[in-house]
Amino acid sequence: MSNYKISNKRKGLLIVISAPSGCGKTTVVKRLRRGQRIGYSISATTRGRRTGERHGRDYFFMTVRQFKDGIKRNDFLEWAKVFGNYYGTLKGYVQRLQAQGKDVILDIDVQGAQQLMRKGVDATYIFMLPPNVMELKRRLMKRRTDTRATIQKRLSLAKKEMACAPRYDYIMVNKKIAETMRVIKMIIQSEKYKTK
Ligand code: 5GP
Repeated sequence: MSNYKISNKRKGLLIVISAPSGCGKTTVVKRLRRGQRIGYSISATTRGRRTGERHGRDYFFMTVRQFKDGIKRNDFLEWAKVFGNYYGTLKGYVQRLQAQGKDVILDIDVQGAQQLMRKGVDATYIFMLPPNVMELKRRLMKRRTDTRATIQKRLSLAKKEMACAPRYDYIMVNKKIAETMRVIKMIIQSEKYKTK
């Protein structure tokens, strides 16, 4: 017995969530962020700020120059270019949250998650799927933020990303938000009771 650690006293978990765009991941992550002991890794990005977004709450908005300096300084746990813009997870930021004993959510794309897997970063990797491709298309069209060509681009990327789903620890279909939240919370909870 002495070899067993009391697992829920360990430092916070890293929870990586990836999903093709239009899957409803933003809503899921927003709800998770309301949790008391949950921290959210605010990423750095070079993409423009959308209406309602705030620096330091949604992203740390950077210029390409600042981002590239960050790469040179080795500031990022992972980084990737998504739809022409740079996105990266700030190492120091994640470490600070973990040091506070919080579980940390990383909302990152498939390329970023794969970098972490390759580096052997100890995290819980969750992939969210849309109920089906038609539903994904419907959700993308409903957002009314993208042109037809962009939707097509997002759809074909989504198909490629979905092929990576089996590399994750958990795959879940985001059909109903309440059920998705219930399952993710259950996953986080059970990860804490793992012996290793
Ligand atoms: P959006 O621009 O819609 O906020 O995000 C676009 C995509 O970039 C999403 O799939 C999101 O998960 C991903 N993303 C956001 N932050 C990061 C990050 O730090 N690293 C990586 N690799 N992807 C990110």
